[in-house]
Amino acid sequence: MYVADPNRYEKMVYNYAGASGLQLPAIGLGLWHNFGSVDRLDNQRAIVRQAFDLGITYFDLANNYGPEPGTAEENFGQILATDLKPYRDEILVSSKAGYDMWEGPYGTYGSRKSIINSANDSLRRLGLDYVDIFYSHRFDPNTDLHETAEALDQLVREGKALYIGISNYTGEQMAAITKIFTDLKTPFIVNQVRYNMFNRGIETDLLPVLKKERKAGVAFSPLSQGLLTDRYLNGIPQDSRANRSDSPFLIDSQVDQTLSTVKKLNDIAKLRGQTLAEMALSWDLRDPEMACVLIGASRPSQVLDNVHALDHLTFSDAELKEINQILAA
Ligand code: NDP
Repeated sequence: MYVADPNRYEKMVYNYAGASGLQLPAIGLGLWHNFGSVDRLDNQRAIVRQAFDLGITYFDLANNYGPEPGTAEENFGQILATDLKPYRDEILVSSKAGYDMWEGPYGTYGSRKSIINSANDSLRRLGLDYVDIFYSHRFDPNTDLHETAEALDQLVREGKALYIGISNYTGEQMAAITKIFTDLKTPFIVNQVRYNMFNRGIETDLLPVLKKERKAGVAFSPLSQGLLTDRYLNGIPQDSRANRSDSPFLIDSQVDQTLSTVKKLNDIAKLRGQTLAEMALSWDLRDPEMACVLIGASRPSQVLDNVHALDHLTFSDAELKEINQILAA
C-alpha cells in the first residue's frame, strides 16, 4: 500500500492562481505522454507517486490523452483508486475538452454538446465526481463564446468542476471570454499555454492580459518536449519521445535544428549549478504571471530532477541577457 512521504510539503512552492484562493504547485505533472494504454502502468504509478511525494499536487489530463485517446484518464483513474484515494482533498485533477475525441461533429471544439458530454465521459473514466479544473482546450472559431462559457459554467453549477480554465486562447480571445465569465460569476482562474525558451509568443500577447485580469498562466511543454534538457546532447536515445512512433509531436529534425542552441544553454545551466531542465523550468517561473509549469516525464528520476529547479529560481540580469542573445542567434 502506498503511503505518501510525510515531508512532501517541505520543498514545493505554491503560487496563487491569479486573484483566486487556489494555490497551484509551481511544478505540476502532465499526463499527455507516457500514460496511455501503450505505456506500462507500473511506471505510470511510480511517476505519480514520485510527483506527489515531492509536493506536486496538480495532475493535468484531457479527454484525448493516451494513446488510445481516453486511456490516460482511465489509467490515472486506476492510480487514484489504488494509491491516491485517501489524498483526494490534497490533489488537483484537471481535464479538458476541445480537441478531436470522438467521431462526428460533436467530438471536438467548444459547443455545449461537446463540452458537457466530454466532461461526463472524463469523470466516468477517472472514476471521480468532480475535477478541480475543467478547461476549454482550445478556442472554437465557429461557436459563440457565450455558448462555450455557459457550458463550462454549468459544469461548476452541477458540481462537476470546482474551477474553470481555458487553454491555447490568445490574449484577445481570453479578454473576451473573461468578460462573459465575470458576468456569469464563473470561477475562471487560468489560461494554459505553451511557454518555453523556444516559444515566447505569449510574452507580448497574453502576459499583459493575465496581469490585467488577475488570472494565472499555466505553462505547458516548458521543456519543449525534452529539447530543453540534456536528453539529446549526444544523439537521439531509443527510449526518448523524439524516437517514439506513437508520439509524432516531436520529430528528430527538430532535435538537429536546436542542438547548437541547446548546447550553449546547457553551458549556462552548468555555471548556475543546474541541469538544463532545471534552468528551463526556473526561467519559465521567473515571470510572476506564471503560477505553474506543467512537466511531462517518462520516468520518476526526471520528476526528481525537475523539482530541483526550485533550488535556484532567480536569474541575474547578465544571465537573462546572455540567454536572450543565445535564443536570438
Ligand atoms: P515537457 O516540455 O516537460 O516535456 C516532457 C519530456 O521532456 C519528457 O517526456 C521527457 O522526455 C523530457 N524530460 C522531462 N524532464 C526531463 C529531465 N529532467 N531530463 C531530461 N529529460 C526530461 O512537457 P510536455 O510536452 O510533456 O507537456 C507537459 C504537459 O503539458 C502535458 O502532459 C499536458 O498535461 C500539458 N500540455 C497541454 C497542452 C494543451 O494544449 N493544453 C499541449 C501540450 C501539453 P522523454 O519522454 O523523451 O524522456
